[in-house]
Amino acid sequence: MRCHIPILMYHQVRDLQEKEHLSSLSVPIKRFRFQMKFLKQMGYKGVSLTELTPYLKGEKQGKVAGITFDDGYLNNLTNALPILNKMDFSATCYIVKDRIGKTNDWNPELSQQALMTQEQIQEWLGAGMEIGSHTLSHINLKKADKETARPEIIQSKTELEQMFGVAVNHFCYPYGGFNEESVALAEEAGYLSATTTQRSRCHTNEHMFKLPRVVVARHTLPHLFWMKLATRYEDKRRKS
Ligand SMILES: [Zn+2]
Repeated sequence: MRCHIPILMYHQVRDLQEKEHLSSLSVPIKRFRFQMKFLKQMGYKGVSLTELTPYLKGEKQGKVAGITFDDGYLNNLTNALPILNKMDFSATCYIVKDRIGKTNDWNPELSQQALMTQEQIQEWLGAGMEIGSHTLSHINLKKADKETARPEIIQSKTELEQMFGVAVNHFCYPYGGFNEESVALAEEAGYLSATTTQRSRCHTNEHMFKLPRVVVARHTLPHLFWMKLATRYEDKRRKS
């Protein structure tokens, strides 16, 4: 049987200020609540990458959707977490290790939003959620040489593990940028998976270090959300 497992990619969950234009990756709270309820009504369980892995490997069958958040925004804790808990879902938040407690200053053009502090990440973990690594500094690994890429991938894992006392088994390439070297480094580091920004649901025998995702943005209205989950809409948008 061919499986179609969506891994949803979120960034921020927050209501927007009127004058914000460059905020397509911020999903309003109401819309996020609708999406999680809708998932549940359709019979999906929303899960972290750790819970999802046996399904991706074909060791387990069931209707599941991975839920991921990139960058580690404070609004994931304040706005998304209560909804996730209510639905009994888990999720993975990819943390930029050297930006903990700071803002998304790797892109000054975007409205600067708070990233979780160490204590807030502890709260996220304490509520049954998971963290993964999103490098040390939100670097584009596709453009980095091996010496630069190595600590971004390997050290971010060990430093997060030391800081939080949990295993950090999942990685996410910033900007979706990766090459064969970064894939090899992620494997060497001992991660179990790495997610990209390649569009598609995951299918049988997906490369665990090149996992595609289903982007959910500000304008993902109910009908489109359903299409992304249950039809070939995203699969058809896959490149290569
Ligand atoms: Zn990112």
